Amino acid sequence: MELISVVVPCYNEQESLPLFYDEITRVAAQMQQKHELEFEFLFVNDGSKDKTLEILRGLSKVDSRVRYVSFSRNFGKEAAMYAGMQNSKGDYVVILDADLQHPPKFIPQMYEYVSSGEYDCASTRRVSRKGEPKLLSFFARSFYKIINKISQTEIVDGAQDFRFMTRAMVDAILSMPEYNRFSKGIFSWVGFRTKYIEYENVERVAGTSKWNFWKLFLYSLDGIFAFSTAPLAIASVLGLIFCVISFIMIAVIVVKTLIWGDPVAGYPSLICVIFLIGGLQLFCVGILGQYLSRTYLETKKRPIYIVGETEKTKKK
Ligand code: UDP
Ligand code: MG
Repeated sequence: MELISVVVPCYNEQESLPLFYDEITRVAAQMQQKHELEFEFLFVNDGSKDKTLEILRGLSKVDSRVRYVSFSRNFGKEAAMYAGMQNSKGDYVVILDADLQHPPKFIPQMYEYVSSGEYDCASTRRVSRKGEPKLLSFFARSFYKIINKISQTEIVDGAQDFRFMTRAMVDAILSMPEYNRFSKGIFSWVGFRTKYIEYENVERVAGTSKWNFWKLFLYSLDGIFAFSTAPLAIASVLGLIFCVISFIMIAVIVVKTLIWGDPVAGYPSLICVIFLIGGLQLFCVGILGQYLSRTYLETKKRPIYIVGETEKTKKK
């Protein structure tokens, strides 16, 4: 019998979890009527501060298919997804959010695509950004345009972390143990044939989103620095352009002084140029710093997550 691991990262999801559990078990039962399938529901509690862990303990007591991994603190969704994949045992792994924004009703369809052997991965892509602030949509679109120009890895606009994957693809993802994880890039970097199912965005059922504009902005920078070295090239090119300009300016000034003498003037323009060059230099050093800091974090080889408790280690 084939086993499907359902991996769910959860951070402060006490309101959504019961609803999610009802829905996922309903879909699982529906699939078991048609196919010879087994399920495991693997919840990753990402250091929640509410009753999420208690709910998971309760669920794992009444339903032997429910397993959980609880982190010692909040490590972020990327870490939670990694932990989920690492602890999953299934022939297939499906990752989805606890807030029902990734509707479980798509799983049967995803299973058909992947089990037929035609695809290795099925994912969803939201076609509209309805209900999202206009400004946010604009920045999101610009981000996808920029990153796809400067990175060799294709980052699909609107693609989500809702993924149904074969064991081979999961193992490929697990073989990338990098600390700075940008899963939109990682999913695409490992390759494999992916089917995108298009759907309209849905609101979360309960609780609140953990994202705000600033966090999204920093996350987009993470994506750029993790999957492109173009900013480094931009820094070098800027440097080069300014060298050329300065050589021309030196020549012009030398000639001008030889012909017309040297009346002292141009103090304001001098200050402007100093500011410009100073700013550019800091900007370029900053870019270098971004890569260096990431290299620094990678070389420490810190674990991606630390487990506090699982359904097996829980004390009575
Ligand atoms: N999540 C997590 N760790 C975090 C933040 C979020 O595991 O630090 C989980 C969260 O519980 C949810 C999923 O990641 O299941 C998506 O989070 P959210 O709904 O806040 O993001 P959005 O849907 O708004 O992009
Ligand atoms: Mg959500």
